[in-house]
Amino acid sequence: MLGCIIGDLAGSRFEGCSQNPKDVPLFVRHQTTFTDDSICTIAVAEALLNNQPVEETLRSWCKRYPDRGYGSRFRQWIYMPETADRHSYGNGAAMRIAPVGLLAADSQAVTRLTAMVTDVSHDHPEARRGAGAVAASIRLALSGLEKRAIGAEIHERYGYQLSASIQDLHDQDSYSESCQDTVPVALICALKASCFEEAIRNAIYIGGDTDTIACIAGGLAEALYGIPAHLVEESQPYLPGAFLDVLQRLYAAASQPMPLAGSIKALPKPTSQRGSPSIMGWFNSFFV
Ligand SMILES: [Mg+2]
Repeated sequence: MLGCIIGDLAGSRFEGCSQNPKDVPLFVRHQTTFTDDSICTIAVAEALLNNQPVEETLRSWCKRYPDRGYGSRFRQWIYMPETADRHSYGNGAAMRIAPVGLLAADSQAVTRLTAMVTDVSHDHPEARRGAGAVAASIRLALSGLEKRAIGAEIHERYGYQLSASIQDLHDQDSYSESCQDTVPVALICALKASCFEEAIRNAIYIGGDTDTIACIAGGLAEALYGIPAHLVEESQPYLPGAFLDVLQRLYAAASQPMPLAGSIKALPKPTSQRGSPSIMGWFNSFFV
């Protein structure tokens, strides 16, 4: 899930921009910032971890961090729930769903938890499809399925075409905030990369709603490749302590420990549902 937040941070400087080069600094002081994508992801994680109502938890986190790029309809949902239109297929449904992929025990749980998290504000079938595909892809990656098989499974179950090249998507130069446009692009960013950082750079290079595309791509890329330790470290100054607390608890509860590139593969798989103590120790060294 930290991968989502790193994607949001790195993409935040480029939201709405096209023709971004790939070779950009991922973090820039006074420009890089977390946005709605990180806040909503943290809120969903906390709701699931504490078994709290998703709707109230989302609202409470969003009010704690106002003016972080919420769309106008979602802002209405936060502040005037009784008049809000919940029939949304906005990509907000897909950018916050990663914790389901980490915490769901099986594919039925992915479906059930996705509906529970999504329907509170995005009860359109396209929103549930997009969120479901993102959560399922993360769960499949964590279960060890290889990329081609993940793409095939997502295509079969959710109907997304994942064949476009990164260059084609860059050349299309389009901007969309819908699930149906954003989710396949973000999944392609991760599936066609060779490492976590390349997935994030793909999202920036494609342009458009870059923080959300990079957030979704980052969640899947973390599950596929792990996060390089230097990016974990570089992201820390941009994150409030309250985020780190939720992240810590999420990784402790997830069925897989935090995947760190270069170290996770060398460690034995945890024997319980808890994270490996050595990984958690490493993680704690940053987050306490
Ligand atoms: Mg955003």
